[in-house]
Amino acid sequence: MVRISPAVLALFLGVTTLAQSRAVAITFDDLPDLSGDEHTVEQTTAMMQKLISAIAAQRVPAIGFVNEDKLLDETNTKNDPRLEALLDAWLASGFDLGNHTFAHVDLHEVGVTAFENDITRGEAVTRTLCAKYQRPLKWFRHPYLDTGRRLADRDQVDAFLTAHGYDVAPVTIDNSEWIYALAYEKAPSARVRWRIRNDYIRYMAARFAWYETRSHALFGHEIRQVLLLHASTLNADVFPRLARMIRRRGYRFLTIDEAVADPAYRSRDTWTGGGVSWIERWGVTRGVSQNVFDRDPPASAWVVKLAGVKEE
Ligand SMILES: [Zn+2]
Repeated sequence: MVRISPAVLALFLGVTTLAQSRAVAITFDDLPDLSGDEHTVEQTTAMMQKLISAIAAQRVPAIGFVNEDKLLDETNTKNDPRLEALLDAWLASGFDLGNHTFAHVDLHEVGVTAFENDITRGEAVTRTLCAKYQRPLKWFRHPYLDTGRRLADRDQVDAFLTAHGYDVAPVTIDNSEWIYALAYEKAPSARVRWRIRNDYIRYMAARFAWYETRSHALFGHEIRQVLLLHASTLNADVFPRLARMIRRRGYRFLTIDEAVADPAYRSRDTWTGGGVSWIERWGVTRGVSQNVFDRDPPASAWVVKLAGVKEE
């Protein structure tokens, strides 16, 4: 008989306890397709069908945030029913939808009134579809996570959202996964796409580790996290592997409603800077130095270069 020393047993139990305590909600922005402008309807359809199947096979609850301007057909005057059908398929698979404004506008650029108008314009199809599946339309995600340059602006938009039945969908595990997605679209060969997929999983594991540590520093334990992803070819191709990586870190998957039930989400937040993780907002509000948050793991330089963008 194998005897396990108390020390090893304690370690095992400790790891098990930790493993059971980690939880994360998965959210996808820019439905139906981050790269909708560059894709044909057929490409967007193939991507979304693959993404939906992958999430469903992993039995992961998910919410997708819609930009309804991405539903327009090539005339830009009416919606393409094939694109609306993708949102229908998303709901039919048991996932939720939220509002991400009509045209992905930036509150910090367009101002409060135009922003509020775009929120209203952005729910025409989504509200009808949610009603069809008796799902609530209650979550709003700010494009670029820009929630207001002044607290007065933020309060005004928050009041507007509340009046229209919305809650703000926070993000705690922020990342530049969209840069990997853009690089993936531009990759010149299958070999480069393979390298991007590998580096993406490594990068996302580093982002998880970073916010786990920051969560500990701020709250003394790991809070329920909310992960930001996008509806992209990359995620459609790699989601099973991404979900495995997250599970291996000891996470179980939650709905966003379950995640934000964590008392951490009631923390004071007076952030008026650019779009960053809510953990950073709560930390800076509490007086933690901004420098602490500037050391977060970056996307690989070769990926950023291939994507042709600048990482913020
Ligand atoms: Zn977005």
